[in-house]
Amino acid sequence: MRKPFVAGNWKMNMDGQSGVALAQAIASGSLQQASRKVTVAVCPPFVYLQSVARALSASSIAVGAQDLYFGSKGAFTGEVSASMLKDVGCAYVLCGHSERRHVIGETDELINKKVAAAVVGGLLPILCVGELLAERDASKTEQVVTRQMKEGLSGLSDEKVAAVTIAYEPVWAIGTGRTATPQQAQEVHNFIRNLLAEMYDTPLAESSRILYGGSVKPDNAADLMGQQDIDGLLVGGASLKADDFLAIIQAAA
Ligand code: PEP
Repeated sequence: MRKPFVAGNWKMNMDGQSGVALAQAIASGSLQQASRKVTVAVCPPFVYLQSVARALSASSIAVGAQDLYFGSKGAFTGEVSASMLKDVGCAYVLCGHSERRHVIGETDELINKKVAAAVVGGLLPILCVGELLAERDASKTEQVVTRQMKEGLSGLSDEKVAAVTIAYEPVWAIGTGRTATPQQAQEVHNFIRNLLAEMYDTPLAESSRILYGGSVKPDNAADLMGQQDIDGLLVGGASLKADDFLAIIQAAA
């Protein structure tokens, strides 16, 4: 049985005060029942991780980073390591978010190093995969997702892969208000689960959580969560409003 997982990606939003206030509002929302049934995490910008982690310390809500560097320490100006993220209270880290792939220019090879460094450093990576609109239109979704999965997880033992959550985020649905239909998402989630079974084994595929991300809102969360292979949601815009995020968590429960 896979426990539902809802993660909020704050991207480059909020400031110190509003970030803590949002975290507190989420923690004090009517989550008592839902939080036992759903894993919840928020991913603020690096500079607010520590204050948000403190604000959430008495709650069951975990904190995740939006990125990391694969080196453990040294002359990597501007970068942040897995152990630093652990040190400020992170449990999770996003790897290969589409904005890092397509805006910042991260490659599958770099993302693979980040996923491996996260696991070795004791973090739980959320590996994001998903196709561009042109790739979907050219019927290349499965090809793109297969490459991102195989290269992103390359060289990792079964044990390490078991620590990874997958997030399927079609790029054309992120921040656009254009959500994949529950059927479109389910199709790709099922494809990813079968791919995991082929790459590893059925028990690992069956226990892996695969999140959907892309314009998730309170009014589409339940339909998406109703699909057999959708185990949770990675939420951008709607995670910046406590009421919306709480409603999404409720829908996942
Ligand atoms: C995201 O940032 O991963 C995301 C899915 O954003 P949005 O929910 O705003 O589309």
